[in-house]
Amino acid sequence: MNAFAGGNFIMSTPRHYFITTALPYANGVFHVGHITEYIQADIFVRHTRMQLNENDTLYFVGADDVHGAAIMVKAESEGTTPKALVAKIAATRPKCLNGFLISFDHWHSTDSPENVALSQDVYRRLKANGLIDRKTIEQFYDPVKNMFLPDRFIKGECPRCHAQDQYGDACEQCSAVYSPTELIHPRSTLSGATPVLKQSEHFFFRLSDPQCIDFLREWTQKDRLQEEVVNKINEWLGDQDGKSAIIDWDISRDAPYFGIEIPDAPGKYFYVWLDAPIGYLASLKACLAKDNIALEDYLSRDHLNQIHFIGKDIIYFHTLFWPAMMRFAGSPYHVPDKICVHGFITFSGEKMSKSRGTGINPERYLDLNLNPEWLRYYLAAKLNDKIEDIDFNPDDFVARVNSDLIGKFVNIGSRAAPFIKKYFANALSDRFDHVDIVGKVKSEADTLAAQFNRRQFSAAVRKIMELADAVNTYWDQEAPWALAKRFDALTDEERAHLHTVCSATLECFRLLTLYLKPILPRLAADVERFLNIAPLKAKDAAACLPARHLIRDYEHLMARIDPKQIDRLLEPPADPAPQKKQNPSDAVPALPPITIEDFAKMDLRVGKIVDAVAVEGSDKLIRLTVDLNEDQPRTIFAGIKKAFKPEDLIGRLTPVVANLAPRKMKFGVSEGMVLAASEPEGGIYLFTPDQGAKPGMKIK
Ligand SMILES: [Zn+2]
Repeated sequence: MNAFAGGNFIMSTPRHYFITTALPYANGVFHVGHITEYIQADIFVRHTRMQLNENDTLYFVGADDVHGAAIMVKAESEGTTPKALVAKIAATRPKCLNGFLISFDHWHSTDSPENVALSQDVYRRLKANGLIDRKTIEQFYDPVKNMFLPDRFIKGECPRCHAQDQYGDACEQCSAVYSPTELIHPRSTLSGATPVLKQSEHFFFRLSDPQCIDFLREWTQKDRLQEEVVNKINEWLGDQDGKSAIIDWDISRDAPYFGIEIPDAPGKYFYVWLDAPIGYLASLKACLAKDNIALEDYLSRDHLNQIHFIGKDIIYFHTLFWPAMMRFAGSPYHVPDKICVHGFITFSGEKMSKSRGTGINPERYLDLNLNPEWLRYYLAAKLNDKIEDIDFNPDDFVARVNSDLIGKFVNIGSRAAPFIKKYFANALSDRFDHVDIVGKVKSEADTLAAQFNRRQFSAAVRKIMELADAVNTYWDQEAPWALAKRFDALTDEERAHLHTVCSATLECFRLLTLYLKPILPRLAADVERFLNIAPLKAKDAAACLPARHLIRDYEHLMARIDPKQIDRLLEPPADPAPQKKQNPSDAVPALPPITIEDFAKMDLRVGKIVDAVAVEGSDKLIRLTVDLNEDQPRTIFAGIKKAFKPEDLIGRLTPVVANLAPRKMKFGVSEGMVLAASEPEGGIYLFTPDQGAKPGMKIK
């Protein structure tokens, strides 16, 4: 198999890899779930690239998934076009993809000429093979917007538990699943109108056809899928006697719809989920064009591995519709060889939620200049080939990066390098490949390669850290610093030993860097520069640094995480505020936004000024006695003497901050604050409530 240390590469048949991540829906920026999937796929891709021979190829592609009603409606609500909306989102992609070192060969869009042509071609082939049906169905229609309503745009009362304001497909209160026609008092969320039932002809992909079911039963059994996924699909496919739960798939939507037109069917568009996975091929086609390779040619090659990384929420689409579409569209279309399904990422055991401000915002991570390889390493240490969720825990994150990645691994280079420089002019010794520790680190190359191949990254990282521990133990036992301390008095033999210990340790550092390179590509490049070697490939695990090899001076490789950086990362996101718009007074800068919770902390009340006295000895202050409908009126000092005569204030109503902590002033204790508008050099203006306001009333 593909191994770091294998020597049998030269004669092998060329292998080809076509690898994708799920296409993100272009109605929003990346969240950490996207980035986690991209990092998982990227580690696999980089590992595979390190194994490639001269005639092998690998294409790692992604694209924005841009069609569908949701984007059409969002664009309308923002007063823009769907194309403009998705272009705006597309412009945000490179920052995160580059920032987290995701090595896509190409990034495309499902709203592209390639995807239009491919989607229509796949459809024509399915139709020619007798797998497209037309059926008239009845659906809710918005009579104001003049469009059919997707389930998510219909709300009403749950038919089971009678909770109000539930979506057309499922109740969030009692989890009941139903069809939108069962909702009580349904209404369109787009117009508020009561939807009417209307008939329309829809196109269906005959997934329930026996040839599709037979194909899927066979396709799922060939080591393409994780066991949990196979079990899930077997439930859907039912038993061999032919009783499957699979129904035909509705692949058309009526205009108005942002999508790809169905050939020879005016006013009909492909449902977004039909053209989205074909977007993988559209992106590959655009990428291959840069190398002057035709898509048909590439897909027809022997030893092509088509591998998709996806989340567990879209298994159905990728293990039933997608392979069946490819199989029955026929050659040169290629059935997926592997679907790699992952779980979700949680935050300290809870689901990440942007609205509640929990979790990590990838853009903010980059804006705070946090090292992307910290996150790559941490996720790798948690990712495996199972579908279970993985958890981001801030303390664990700091601990693993600081103690393991830096404390164990980076430490090895920084310990050995200064000795090689000071005593041996940066030259390694004559021979060090025979040292036990080198053999030990080298011996795990095949095991680690197999773990990377199987996406068992957490197991690989654990193994690599065990090896790093062993190297540090070797270093501590040899204690080269003790020899170095009396360097001038050492025998030749002792000098040679010191030289060998330091050289063997750096050789181990090289091997560990090679193992970690798919996870830490930038750090690996820095180590390659330091060790003065060519970019590490899998086969280099079988080699060794040459005798008397010259290295460069060691430079600091990676900083530790300061926990304060994580605190800043995890601060709840501020609501975007229109700060730059017409500041009422340029002299008074706008404050950062606060949340409604911040605002709710203020107890604002209507107060009645029952007495007002100028404070002697102060040119600013008036002492107010303010009635808030409490047992006792309060004493409040207000700096408004310049603008008001005390007697004019008596009897007025004014807003008061009632829960401001009492403040001891030179002239007494102030038990609140009276609100007024002012300019730095101008007047002071009190507020008067409308008639009917009474002392003690809450202001909010
Ligand atoms: Zn309900």
